[in-house]
Amino acid sequence: MKFMSIEVLHLSKSYGQSVAISDLSFDLKMGQITGFLGPNGAGKSTTLKILMGLEIPSSGEAKILGMDVQKQEVKIKKQIGYLAENNPLYPEMYIKEFLTFIGKIHGIGSTELSRRIKEVIEWVGLEREQKKKIKEISKGYQQRVGIAQAILHDPKILILDEPTSGLDPNQMDEIRSLIVALKKDKTILFSSHLLGEVNAICDHVLLIDKGQLKANCSIEEAKKYPGGLEAFFKDKTN
Ligand code: ADP
Repeated sequence: MKFMSIEVLHLSKSYGQSVAISDLSFDLKMGQITGFLGPNGAGKSTTLKILMGLEIPSSGEAKILGMDVQKQEVKIKKQIGYLAENNPLYPEMYIKEFLTFIGKIHGIGSTELSRRIKEVIEWVGLEREQKKKIKEISKGYQQRVGIAQAILHDPKILILDEPTSGLDPNQMDEIRSLIVALKKDKTILFSSHLLGEVNAICDHVLLIDKGQLKANCSIEEAKKYPGGLEAFFKDKTN
């Protein structure tokens, strides 16, 4: 049986009286980039955290590669890479030191880990910066470190929470190109509040507002909406 990469069924999460997400259901196929689009506060991070096993849903279920995110958390972590919102890093660490630390958490043996760190550093374009401390490099390069740690264990699925937030336009373009290049052998779900970003790099769009799923379609379908993508976004987020 071929599993969907991500399956979400009637997922809800409330914090006290405040509803963060309500009755979300969607499936994502393998091998595509999906933009999880919505205004700030829509419920994107909450959903992604539940997928990562970092938040417990109030009701409903979520599966990754057919495995329940709460019951098979450890197995799932091997298949999934995550870049959290605001890319939490250790500024005092050297880049390689940080990647070694992450690799050890994943249980990668030392010979394989050295090979893999070299590979991902080249991959994300950090060769010239690799001897520096994280605090000494620009925000754009720090974001590359964030992507490097997410792909270090070669996961099949990547979940990126607002990966270009806080970057200047050049840095945004660079990170977007990296994400597109990663699509070659990964399924990617990334959140964004920027319509243009989702349009630029996604095959598929999930639109969320006030905790509810408002659209689940290909970017091509969204473009056919009367008035185009901007009208699609505006009408569905009112
Ligand atoms: P987004 O990522 O789309 O900006 P979030 O998932 O962060 O949205 O937030 C959705 C809603 O849930 C917001 O109203 C937010 O204030 C609320 N929320 C998120 N996390 C918490 C929390 N830990 N405690 C209380 N409320 C929260």
